[in-house]
Amino acid sequence: MNTILEVRNLSKVFGGGSKTTVRAVDDVSLSIEEGSTFGLLGESGSGKSTLARLIPRLIEPTSGEIIYKGRGLQHLKDRELRTIREQIQIVFQNPFSSLNPRMTVRQLIGEPLIVHKRSSGAALEQQVRDMMNLVGLNPEHTHRFPHEFSGGQRQRIGIARALILEPKLLILDEPTSALDVSVQAQVLNLLVDLQKKLRLTYLLITHDLSVVRYMCDQVALMYLGKIVEQGEKDHVFHSPMHPYTAALLKDIPSTDPDQRMLEQVSLEADIVSAPWSGVGCRFSPRCPAAQTGQCKTIEPQLIGLPERQQVACHLVHTIPET
Ligand code: SF4
Repeated sequence: MNTILEVRNLSKVFGGGSKTTVRAVDDVSLSIEEGSTFGLLGESGSGKSTLARLIPRLIEPTSGEIIYKGRGLQHLKDRELRTIREQIQIVFQNPFSSLNPRMTVRQLIGEPLIVHKRSSGAALEQQVRDMMNLVGLNPEHTHRFPHEFSGGQRQRIGIARALILEPKLLILDEPTSALDVSVQAQVLNLLVDLQKKLRLTYLLITHDLSVVRYMCDQVALMYLGKIVEQGEKDHVFHSPMHPYTAALLKDIPSTDPDQRMLEQVSLEADIVSAPWSGVGCRFSPRCPAAQTGQCKTIEPQLIGLPERQQVACHLVHTIPET
């Protein structure tokens, strides 16, 4: 398979003063294969949604590289960037707030075609109707407004709007978290079907383990702006190596004897109530396995294990005490 997207050492720093500076995304690298689904998993505040917006440069990175189909995006001028953005689209989390309530479905789905000068008139009308059909909406309802649809149908409108320019890479930012449980599976099944039909690649942002388990080929776990573990979903879910991953997955028993200690890890505090001092491992304020010494003083690096996942933890990569 070919690599469609590569992110190298990407960082985003918000704020100017040293006390107000937030490193929302901190030296993140990842690579996504064409036709696959890459899951980015983490709690609220982990930086995953910021990373999603950095990729098509909806917000500008502070440093690092974004390479789409072999082409660096960070120095592209507006016109070239617009062309690339036709191929990289985002489906936003909340279909209740992401759709303009004053626009009809025809306007909402057809707008990208007009903005990018791709279609107009009767041809546009037909494309909108075909797209509604494809995502399971009734094409007779083109003149309805968003409030006339259910939550699941509104997310289908959001998906149709993202797909109308025939993108190759779809960034799905918590695509089902605002929906009733009863319709979440329908939307996920639709995304799986569309991926097969249209040969799409997905970057799926979520805090929901079951969504990752169902959808993803690769997974990365983010904590306070950093990836702490990443690899094949089956490796990570079968044998989580980082205490944070193990805590999130603790309901899934592992058969790997090396994992038994990690399975005891549980998360009592949250990101806000256990702030990181900025020195040592950023997970150390919440990590029951933290050791005084290296965990408190040295930031662990993301290092690959032979034929397995990459992990950033001193427990896994034992280093001498200083
Ligand atoms: Fe826990 Fe130390 Fe590993 Fe950080 S480096 S996750 S504090 S054991």
